[in-house]
Amino acid sequence: MKDSQILIKKLYQTMDTLALINSVQDLDQLLGLIMKSIKEVMDAEASSLMLLDPTTNELYFSTIEGGSEKVKEIRIKADQGIAGQVCQTGKPLIVNDVSQSKFFLKTVDKFSKFKTKSMMCVPLKNRGKTIGVLQALNKHNDQKFDEDDLNLFVAFSNQVAVAIDNAKLYNMAFYDALTKAFMRRYAEAWLETEYARVQRYHTDLAVVMFDIDHFKKINDTYGHQAGDYVLRELSQLVKANIRGADVLSRMGGEEFLICMPETSLDKALQSAERVRQVIADKAFIYEGTPIPVTISLGIASFSQFPEAEWKKFLKDADLALYHSKEHGRNQVTIYSRQIKALQKAA
Ligand code: GH3
Ligand code: MG
Ligand code: MG
Repeated sequence: MKDSQILIKKLYQTMDTLALINSVQDLDQLLGLIMKSIKEVMDAEASSLMLLDPTTNELYFSTIEGGSEKVKEIRIKADQGIAGQVCQTGKPLIVNDVSQSKFFLKTVDKFSKFKTKSMMCVPLKNRGKTIGVLQALNKHNDQKFDEDDLNLFVAFSNQVAVAIDNAKLYNMAFYDALTKAFMRRYAEAWLETEYARVQRYHTDLAVVMFDIDHFKKINDTYGHQAGDYVLRELSQLVKANIRGADVLSRMGGEEFLICMPETSLDKALQSAERVRQVIADKAFIYEGTPIPVTISLGIASFSQFPEAEWKKFLKDADLALYHSKEHGRNQVTIYSRQIKALQKAA
């Protein structure tokens, strides 16, 4: 293929990618996709996004593709290395032999065991301000990055900055800032839609409502900051222990909901029990002090009472949760009509 044909092919590839990028709104998913695209379009062995932490004026690896995840443990001063140079000047750079560059920082390679040979690095700018840098590393077959590559990379990075900005806004609108779980109103909208779908197609759905046990005491004993730490860690831990399709939301204070699409009661019970166990076993350590944490859970399953509606579904899970609270906490209860009768009698 002639050079011009290669360039045109790359342009089309870039346009496809950008269309896709603009349709993805989850920030992590978006960044992963961007890194993959850079690697492909730039014909590179690896790609990475470094973001500037304005509070410490350091660059850190936010997302990488094709290299070692270990680099995520590294932070470099915002004026160090080739990335630092680009970040400071706001100007893109190509270095086709890093061993000849006075800016190249060997420590990153040493730490990650990656062998950087060539590098193309462009600033990521948001409203004129540099917020990070994008990097493409090691062009395949020891080829050199050239002006055409760089122009394409710069055009690409401008779109990427806009997409990241949009995704951030989206995240702010739907995610709880402290726990990164969805907000209540997102959960309710999700549930309403999903509930209608389940009724129509006769599939299944389960919800697990849970609440931290004696959280007020955690705040009182260890401080509000420690309480915030527990909320953050717990949310992450729960996310890591449920399926990708499950939706975790913070319903308020220290109460959360997991929506589990196409999940039977048995499977939901297994999941809920796993989450309970993982939290109870986890060493929550805040500033050197271990904090014991447990949660109480309640499950409602669509297949048990298919005639209901989504609001009642939530109420059922809540009643089951309070049954767990009343019976010693740190346990899972499945909603049933008996529980309702018990609650009424109490
Ligand atoms: P139970 O086992 O019955 O659930 O007892 P509890 O102490 O967990 O329940 P309670 O509802 O009495 O207390 C909840 C506490 O959660 C009170 C409130 O100050 C605290 N809280 C709510 N939101 C936050 C938050 O964002 N951060 C922190 N640190 N605490 C919060
Ligand atoms: Mg509580
Ligand atoms: Mg509560």
